[in-house]
Amino acid sequence: MHVSKIGLTALVPPELIFACGGEPVDVNNIIPASKKYPRNKLCAWTAIWKEMLVERELSVDSLIVVAGGDCHNALVDGQKVAMSGIPTHFFFYPFDGDPEYLESQLYGLSGFLGGIKFPEKIKQINDLKKLGQKIDIKRSRGRITSGEAFNILISFSDLRGNLEEFQKNIASIKEHSIKTGNRIALIGVPPIFCDFHDVAQSLGLHIVFDELPYEFIRHRGANIREIACDYREYTFARPLDFRINFLQKELEKRKVDGIIHYTQFACHHMLEDEIIRSRLDYPVLTIQGDLPGNTPQQIKLRLEAFREMLERL
Ligand code: SF4
Repeated sequence: MHVSKIGLTALVPPELIFACGGEPVDVNNIIPASKKYPRNKLCAWTAIWKEMLVERELSVDSLIVVAGGDCHNALVDGQKVAMSGIPTHFFFYPFDGDPEYLESQLYGLSGFLGGIKFPEKIKQINDLKKLGQKIDIKRSRGRITSGEAFNILISFSDLRGNLEEFQKNIASIKEHSIKTGNRIALIGVPPIFCDFHDVAQSLGLHIVFDELPYEFIRHRGANIREIACDYREYTFARPLDFRINFLQKELEKRKVDGIIHYTQFACHHMLEDEIIRSRLDYPVLTIQGDLPGNTPQQIKLRLEAFREMLERL
């Protein structure tokens, strides 16, 4: 039986894609290690997946672009992919969190994917998300490196397209005993650098919270109605106030010492930096990335200076 590969440009409930018989592929997850330099770009994330899809270097049967409530660069680059002949569906989150609107979007998506055929996959994924939450807690307690935890948590957007293999990947994570002296929350879109968490850890900064990957493991639901009622709280698609209120509680719970706000060149989320700085009462280091690859030397120096500053407080 042919299983359709469904490309995703941001968070789309993967439980619905698996339940419809598709294999989700988060087109962002291959970018940090790709070392690709796109020819024509604003944000490198969308430019790279657009180029790889249009040139068929990345093979998918169809693409779901998260348009409303997330990223306007993706909306435009997604249309270029659609014009190249790949069937493309545009998915919109409600800015006001209206569950009925989101439910209608999820029904539209399910229709695009041919309808639900394997409802049992939804429970299987909910169980895997519980394991993801345990990893998140162990990392926060210094029993798993932040690099290993991040690699698993970021993969919850598509569960690497194979639930059984992904469960084995989770089970293979080794426990350690890590000093968590400088407890850092990494907020914003994920860094485009493939070694960022390991670099931060080697410089004495233990990342105990990854904002976007945490969204991937905390939303769930047993059917379309429940999925709509829960995913409507996906913070990146909601007003900034809503997201900051959520962050305030989460950062307090995790007893963080400081925040790294990662921003991406030419991404509108950069504009949020001043509000984040004024509303979150922690030392904040804002860094910016552009192209994929290893963490640049200049950013390593800034991380080191940030650690020294935290240790002086
Ligand atoms: S970094 Fe910003 S502009 Fe780039 S894909 Fe993410 S949300 Fe869109």
